[in-house]
Amino acid sequence: MNPIPDKAGRTVTALGIDLGGTRLKIGLVDRRGRVLAMKKFPTRVQIGREPLIKRIIGLTASFLKDPCCGAQPPRVIGLGAAGLIDIGRGVVELSPNFPDWRQVPLGPRLEEALGLATFLDNDANAVTFGEKWAGAGQDWEHFACLTLGTGVGGGLILGGRLWYGAHGSGPEIGHMTIAPRGELCRCGNRGCLETKASATWLVEKANRIIREKGLHPPCSLKSIKPGATLTAQDLFHWAQTGETHMVRLFQQMGEALGLALANLVHLLSLEGIILGGGLSRAATIFLPYLEKEFKKRLTLVSPAGVGLRISTLQERSGIIGAAGLALERAGSDRTGYLKQRFPDGP
Ligand SMILES: [Zn+2]
Repeated sequence: MNPIPDKAGRTVTALGIDLGGTRLKIGLVDRRGRVLAMKKFPTRVQIGREPLIKRIIGLTASFLKDPCCGAQPPRVIGLGAAGLIDIGRGVVELSPNFPDWRQVPLGPRLEEALGLATFLDNDANAVTFGEKWAGAGQDWEHFACLTLGTGVGGGLILGGRLWYGAHGSGPEIGHMTIAPRGELCRCGNRGCLETKASATWLVEKANRIIREKGLHPPCSLKSIKPGATLTAQDLFHWAQTGETHMVRLFQQMGEALGLALANLVHLLSLEGIILGGGLSRAATIFLPYLEKEFKKRLTLVSPAGVGLRISTLQERSGIIGAAGLALERAGSDRTGYLKQRFPDGP
């Protein structure tokens, strides 16, 4: 992983964009994977497709105008978004975060508006690449990275390279079946890992329990106001008080992850697993259950030989990875794509 030759010895930078369903993060990243500047904005999915594309372009343009820490302006843009991405054409084919998006040429749109070569990828692939390049997976050649957030995303590094598979978008670890007769996932399948280990489902189940059992969130949780919507972070704080129903939710989450990860290690002979995403901050509660289930299910590989790490990059991993992928793809440019579009260099 040596993203781009720096012929002039300058601080080569790339812009990384992490396009999430809730937050849009934009950051300037140097060739060692360090974030030099970063800004966060609400994504505002509800404004609709075209206004949202214009919003992304507008926010990126104003970020680019802001002179930053004496670094060179970025040479390329990398963008990670959830869903099926045609990385060759820079097209979002469909995305769970943006229901009205079908075949959206986001890469070419950004290039046209901003004049910088733009590379799109799946957001979980970007996060996984970021961990390999500058995070918790630098010393591993074969690992899985899971992002526990609104959904469950996943990427794989196999033989030191990001694995895209036959369909070009990488693995869908969140939609591995964990419980054959489980809850109906938004993908149409039943019992996906995502129905056990994502913030969306944790909140949904907690609300159900609260209604059925007539529970009242403790007053000590200042963020939980009467009538307010619970967040996964609230549930984590509530579970920390020892409330049995909430602890049980995180126990189920840990056990589902332990089962899924043991399957992955048996299948791919991985040397490690990285857990990232906002919900990985609740590891103090779910990790003991995860480890117990993982050890129980992993019969043909020694659990001691498989590392389990929490992301060191956390919320920066998406922009670092997207920027790194853009630098790598610009550096290799095997298809001649950049030469055609930017004859004077990216
Ligand atoms: Zn699913």
